[in-house]
Amino acid sequence: MVVLGVTVLFLTWWCTEFAGTMVLPLGGKEYEQMREAILKAEHQYALGGKVFLSPEEQQADQVLVELKKRELQSASGVRIPSAMHFFEAKPLIEASGMFKVLKTMPKGAVLHLHNSAAVSSSWIIQNLTYRGEAKLCTQNGRHYFTVRSQSYCPANQTRVINEMRKEWTDGPGSFDRWLETLINLKLKPRKPSATVDDIWKDFESCFDAMKGFLQYKPFFEAYHRRLLHEFHRDNVCYLELRVSFPRLIDADGKEYGPVEVGYILYRLVIEFRRQNPTFHGVKLILAKHRNMTDDDLANALKLYESLTTTLRGFVVGFDLVGQEDPQRSLKSFAPTLLRSSSLETPPRYFFHAGESVSYYTEADQNLVDAILLDTRRIGHGYSLFKHPILWHAVRRKQIVLEVCPISNQVLGLVQDLRNHPGSFYATQNIPMVIASDDPGFWDAVGVSYDYYYAFMAMAPSAGLGFLKQLVWDSIKYSAISEEERQNITTALQHQWHEFVQGLINGSAT
Ligand SMILES: [Zn+2]
Repeated sequence: MVVLGVTVLFLTWWCTEFAGTMVLPLGGKEYEQMREAILKAEHQYALGGKVFLSPEEQQADQVLVELKKRELQSASGVRIPSAMHFFEAKPLIEASGMFKVLKTMPKGAVLHLHNSAAVSSSWIIQNLTYRGEAKLCTQNGRHYFTVRSQSYCPANQTRVINEMRKEWTDGPGSFDRWLETLINLKLKPRKPSATVDDIWKDFESCFDAMKGFLQYKPFFEAYHRRLLHEFHRDNVCYLELRVSFPRLIDADGKEYGPVEVGYILYRLVIEFRRQNPTFHGVKLILAKHRNMTDDDLANALKLYESLTTTLRGFVVGFDLVGQEDPQRSLKSFAPTLLRSSSLETPPRYFFHAGESVSYYTEADQNLVDAILLDTRRIGHGYSLFKHPILWHAVRRKQIVLEVCPISNQVLGLVQDLRNHPGSFYATQNIPMVIASDDPGFWDAVGVSYDYYYAFMAMAPSAGLGFLKQLVWDSIKYSAISEEERQNITTALQHQWHEFVQGLINGSAT
């Protein structure tokens, strides 16, 4: 640590003294040594550079780095998957040895995930839409899954899906493929000239299409069991889910309010943990759409208060979601949010901010407001690299960035993930965790695909230390209690040890 500090100080002095002169006061050997020292210091300064690796982990690191080098060496004229868009790269990623390793790796927690977009679309089509209650409403050229007539969808426009499937001239397979286009961005027709706004319109239409299914208690429960299953199977042991707490209705027409919905999820998680002891649980963040008035926000904060009082330790935070550029900014909500901050127990904010390519707009400045409003974490923080004062503040206050690589690519912020600002955050040792945001809407499952891009595209020279830091930070920056932290850490250490053994003996590759 001291040696690293001295090296960094020396290199800083050297760069300041000589970089502008264009004269290198070094002979050939010293030149090589200095070059080596710069690269080593950069590596040690970056995320994961100071992580302790045991002799076994160092051995595993060599295996991992060798595999990585092989897979990043592109054959002439062949693009490497990490440089490609996820929609094209997915089968290549799945065929790679590195993806197998990352799937096997215990990934700790996923801290940025929206419940209504978390489950794979193919499961929804093959399961929920085959149930007798499943209906589809068609209104003004748009389609909505539902089980009952909705205010936005009259009864005479609503049909039983199984009947529509029977009547489909090209057969049920073709019908199901069409149905899946309603909730999967990969399957929607996309013009190459599509703007971020066009993509967001399609994206929001997926949430609208799913809404009716997730208001029906039996579907809501089956869906969330599947959600836990998909993430647990991907070696994730804990989740923090952003949920809007919609009202539910059951088969007898009985209604359930937000607090009862919280209890339904709580019981479901307990039941899942009983069946899967290596899964450690879920906590919820109340997430409301930015498209609201000040009065709506005040009501949402009241709801948050009642949820955190009744479901203490289960509902842990508050967030505002939706496309930042066209929607209301955090600055415009600040007076109402600040009033709540002066309460005896102020809300814990986990704001989305900086999920934008704009610069010096109010959307881009959401980052300033999120930090001033004392957010615990930042959802995305994609545009943080444009704000040097803020990135220093984030590091000093240990506000972690919830980086979601594939989400940023699919929603049009970046085409090639080697250019994702996560690379810069990693080199600057700005705390970050990897999350998958809405994997069900783009044909991903769990979070391993996002880890693949983080490791192969954003940090191509990093090794096991980088992954270890990401995994342990996912627990460090979560909203769990001290007791829960100890339990998860003990279990995770055991699983990590097994994973390292697997790398050494070849069973993980
Ligand atoms: Zn999000």
